Amino acid sequence: MTSSCSALKLLLLSTPVGPLGSGLGGGVELTLTNLSQELRRRGHHLCVAAPAGSVLGDVPVIAIAGQLQPTAHTQGRQTPTVLPDNAVLANMWDYARQVQDDYDLLVNFAYDWLPFYLMPFFRRPVAQFVSMGSLSTTMDAAVCQAAAKFPDSIGVYTRAQAETFPCEANWRILGSAVDLLLYDFCAQPQDYLVWLGRISPEKGLEDAIAAAQRSQKQLKILGKLEDQRYWDQIQQDYPTASVDYLGFLPTAELQFVVRQAQALLMTPRWIEAFGNVAIEALACGVPVIAYRRGGPAEIVQPGKTGWLVAPDSVDGLVEAIARIDHLDRSACRQQAADEYSLEAWGDRFEQWFREILHSDEMTNSAG
Ligand code: UDP
Repeated sequence: MTSSCSALKLLLLSTPVGPLGSGLGGGVELTLTNLSQELRRRGHHLCVAAPAGSVLGDVPVIAIAGQLQPTAHTQGRQTPTVLPDNAVLANMWDYARQVQDDYDLLVNFAYDWLPFYLMPFFRRPVAQFVSMGSLSTTMDAAVCQAAAKFPDSIGVYTRAQAETFPCEANWRILGSAVDLLLYDFCAQPQDYLVWLGRISPEKGLEDAIAAAQRSQKQLKILGKLEDQRYWDQIQQDYPTASVDYLGFLPTAELQFVVRQAQALLMTPRWIEAFGNVAIEALACGVPVIAYRRGGPAEIVQPGKTGWLVAPDSVDGLVEAIARIDHLDRSACRQQAADEYSLEAWGDRFEQWFREILHSDEMTNSAG
């Protein structure tokens, strides 16, 4: 039994595509880091089960051995579900099965079929945080079946992300958040633009480079080099672009580079579920120029904290870059403070968890 204001015992199960801190997990790594901090600040008891090698600040991590899962966006829409030998995903959920009675609730961050399939076999309820939009038919079916059977259990970042799935559901729109204390405001930028993210085709880096080149601006690039062939091709296609690739940086170093930029360019080809990098830039007072697609279109306030551009239009990016001076850097920081605070976000998660526990109690007492 969980009363409405008691501390919760939570087991968070991480993404199986890489250790936390590696960058392979993309924005879900920041989401897990921020959420763990915020839930602990609220007095909840939590453990995080994650692939061996994970680092999560001072939050205790149960290191799970095993082979990493391939990332869903590198698989085809019809590719059958893959489970490597000695899969870390299977090992994490085997661990969860064994320790479930020590917790009130399990919270899944893996974008994978298995944790959805396993829900009815667990004694404890599972909250499913879906970190990307629709990418495969098996995952669509898993999400939609879980949504039908456990209506309160599916959380997403944004409405645009939820709408990519082929079913109506009681999606819990949770958004994301930044710890403002970790990002410094910078009123006077240097003469460069920045691009942040995994270097992988769905992120459309080549458009940002093309737009920066045409605008005669330097582009600093930060992020995990996920697809070497894609990166090599970009370098071949833009041999003279003024590009400075700085690698994958931890948050403190990332914000040092980002905050001095004139703007962040976001050029996703896919429907970005959220785009944590957008709110990190805003937190530094850096406007966001993004394609009008997916999460960034729900974040950017055009003409105030950035510009939204017709998807896949380099011309549109170039025009927006020419109008950066119309944007107000303090309004960017203010938007991050007003709309993406850890406190408000923590309230949403906490309420979601309590509703799942309440439904579970109702179901059990009825059964
Ligand atoms: N990131 C980072 N260091 C870098 C570049 C990016 O830590 O050098 C992080 C960034 O903070 C963000 C994540 O990578 O949390 C990218 O997440 P986003 O939601 O933008 O996209 P995703 O990778 O989930 O598609």
